[in-house]
Amino acid sequence: MQTGFEMLDQFLVHAYSIVKYPFDANQRIYVLYLATSVVFAFAVYLIARRKGEKTEGTFLRFLFPKHVWQHPSAWLDLRYFFFHRIFGHFLILGLGTWLTLLSYKFVTGHENVVETALDNILPPMTEIGLSVGFMLVAVIVSDLISYTVHYLQHKSVFLWQFHKVHHSAEVMHPVSNFREHPVDNIFYISVNGIGYGAVLGIATLLYGFTPSMPSLLGVPMLHLLFNVAGYNLRHSHIWLRWPGRLSMIFPSPAHHHVHHSCHPDHIDKNFAFMLPFWDVLFGTYHMPDDNRDVKFGIGKEDKGEFTSCARLYWVPCRDAYRVVKRRLTGRKGAAKAEEAPILEVTPPTMPAE
Ligand SMILES: [Zn+2]
Repeated sequence: MQTGFEMLDQFLVHAYSIVKYPFDANQRIYVLYLATSVVFAFAVYLIARRKGEKTEGTFLRFLFPKHVWQHPSAWLDLRYFFFHRIFGHFLILGLGTWLTLLSYKFVTGHENVVETALDNILPPMTEIGLSVGFMLVAVIVSDLISYTVHYLQHKSVFLWQFHKVHHSAEVMHPVSNFREHPVDNIFYISVNGIGYGAVLGIATLLYGFTPSMPSLLGVPMLHLLFNVAGYNLRHSHIWLRWPGRLSMIFPSPAHHHVHHSCHPDHIDKNFAFMLPFWDVLFGTYHMPDDNRDVKFGIGKEDKGEFTSCARLYWVPCRDAYRVVKRRLTGRKGAAKAEEAPILEVTPPTMPAE
């Protein structure tokens, strides 16, 4: 049983870890990932200037434009980052790890993934081949799970009440990435934790030992590559898409901009996290040539209520309660609630062509 002092100590350690995000390679706003995003932004700026497109003056102004930083949504994201990460995330601390271990134990029967890994150390060269293979399979399977979870967060009207917090940002900067409701976090972390534990467990049964991924700075190589390839422009005003069909294969910031857009052509498109290939496969891929129709936010669903940290927590709970109540009482409700069932979800299907 933890004492009050131990809880306080744990909380202070957690709060300090939030402040250190820019120096932690496992966090999206790690200084290296931010720096490489600035390099990509500079390339976009130079190309726009060369084409004679209207840019906002100097590169610094292009990077920090007034229309973003004079918007209340941008400052709410900064306040919410500290509010949610320090308090909300403290309450769900360790949930993903715990579920990964539980799922791993369920699949393998082994008590502890770390002990199993240490018991089975292979010669380095053998391990490198298996390690790379495991990383590829784990990333592909985990990304398919993420795609499915994200699909459900949009298509289930109950889950959408919580996920819409993330989509309610009307302008975006890298910290907007953290505008997420705790219930949305719990659903995403739980399913992904269980999924990753199962992947790890199955790999252990197949290999006879628990593999690890080749890493740099404590981050698996593929994730590191993903993060340095302009990750932080995904939540920004800077439109960057790879030429031609390359955007179907490699993740681009533009892919995620379309996902955040409330234009009718962009709604419920581009669910994939790392591999846009899933969107192509399941018919949810959309990539315009430019961003003239991209408008961030939740459109007509925005009643102007997401104006404070407390409201970002409270409004989705109220709306989810209303959705459940409407279903239970059979009353007619909002248009979206009428169209989609609460928890029955149509699975992703292959496109007709
Ligand atoms: Zn989404």
